[in-house]
Amino acid sequence: MIFVDLRDRTGVLQLVIDPALSGAKDIGLQDCIRAAGDVKERPEGQKKPEMDTGNIELHVKKLDVLNKSKVPPFVVENKVKASEELRLRHRYLDLRRAPMQQNIIFRHSVITAMREYLNSNGFVEIETPILTRSMPEGARDYLVPSRLYARKFYALAQSPQMYKQLLMVAGFERYYQIARCMRDEDPRHDRQPEHTQIDIEMSFVDENDVFEIAEGMFLHIFKAAMQQELKIPFPRMTYASAMETYGTDKPDMRFGMEIVDLHDAFGGVEFPPFDGKEHIRGLVIERGNDVSRRRLDTMNDSAKATGLNGIFWAKIDDKCTGSIGKLICKNIVGALGLQKGNLLIAAAGDEKIFRFLGQLRTELAAELSLCESGFRFLWVTDFPIFELDERTGKVVASHHIFTQPQPDDVQYLDSDPLRVHGRLYDLVCNGNELASGSIRNHERRLQEKLFAIADMDPAKYTMLLDALDYGAPPHGGIAPGIDRIVMILAGLTSLRDVIAFPKTTTAQGLLEGIPDTVSSEQIKELHIKFDQQ
Ligand code: ASP
Repeated sequence: MIFVDLRDRTGVLQLVIDPALSGAKDIGLQDCIRAAGDVKERPEGQKKPEMDTGNIELHVKKLDVLNKSKVPPFVVENKVKASEELRLRHRYLDLRRAPMQQNIIFRHSVITAMREYLNSNGFVEIETPILTRSMPEGARDYLVPSRLYARKFYALAQSPQMYKQLLMVAGFERYYQIARCMRDEDPRHDRQPEHTQIDIEMSFVDENDVFEIAEGMFLHIFKAAMQQELKIPFPRMTYASAMETYGTDKPDMRFGMEIVDLHDAFGGVEFPPFDGKEHIRGLVIERGNDVSRRRLDTMNDSAKATGLNGIFWAKIDDKCTGSIGKLICKNIVGALGLQKGNLLIAAAGDEKIFRFLGQLRTELAAELSLCESGFRFLWVTDFPIFELDERTGKVVASHHIFTQPQPDDVQYLDSDPLRVHGRLYDLVCNGNELASGSIRNHERRLQEKLFAIADMDPAKYTMLLDALDYGAPPHGGIAPGIDRIVMILAGLTSLRDVIAFPKTTTAQGLLEGIPDTVSSEQIKELHIKFDQQ
């Protein structure tokens, strides 16, 4: 008898084939076949309870080889050993593997749940153009040269932002779209040149309305796609307190270990490295003995590399050890609630210490397995509306320029724009940003002012500015990133595992062999001339 694992999208079935059956001897790995016969219970001893179909098998009576397969370049198996490069080059084979099939089908269930929820809440799904005008929203545009109009360009949409706002002006009130967003940004491991958002916009809303819709949508995704109950509403935290308590704007709430203020505790103590420092902050690690001396040294090195004067530490015991062990007295133990076995790590300096300690907090949580299981969502609100571009030193919008300033801060727009907070929010889950959104400017004058502050040319955005002149309703929205949501909910760590045909981290399509050169005729038609090399 020949035993064959027959695979289709629903799983694997064992075929039992008599070698004498026509075609039986010809079949090979990855061939496409059709088999008909009788489904029978497997004999005792040959059952595989761990397999969905482990109790049965098909005794084949008729066999057709529909198409032969070449020997595949890698073994198509669940625990694949092939390099990712090879898998991406032959993605159609990689996608045959059960884990990849499950990922893509899970993605489908998540998107289905999103649509179900929004449809049942009065939203209208509307497509917007991909070929649009170059209107940078914060990233670099992908440009498309026009053949019909020499020296003119389209741009690929970075998001439907402008169009969804126009749809609000047009009276659609509640809109959504599964939208592809294309941004020519520098490659990063967790970024794709094109990503997919569930883009949402609503009229006559404030932050609470947007949060309620987003929370309801996630509740439904958990129920429909994961058969899990999710607790809503999600907690909220301002950007300022997230930075102060967690040293990041996307805190992971699956564990505590918050940044503690040590200023008062060490206020009266003589210790030159702390003298005159703006902030003295630290972390208390409960299981201090799990952190080695070597690790403390590397922490010290990275603190110095950040521009701080190192880290200082104490292991709490009857007699405390460590570089600040001698400074630890009863008062400090009491004020900080320290227990025997804890490790206190302290740093002193300017604003930089928050990001440093935040990063350290995340690293230690991974090293010491501090994260509880499950999903912890958080709204982070009140981001500054502008920030300084590190490269150019110019004031730029921190999310995008269409965000409304907090009403109380409008007075500082001229004098100190960096002090102005926006009606801006992010949804964070387990330390990942899943969505960003804002309440928008629906008045032309205010929008023009923001363009001026960020030194942006309003002429590029005429279509939006003009529309705001015609009774534009107050509106706001959000755009959760589908690739990342699916990746996190599926417990995966690579975006490429939830995208059928992804690009590499260096923005290449290995399957398509892109980017690639094109023919000189095509180039000529587009009125493009290259510099002679
Ligand atoms: N269009 C924004 C983005 O892509 C999201 C939003 O503000 O709704 O980040």
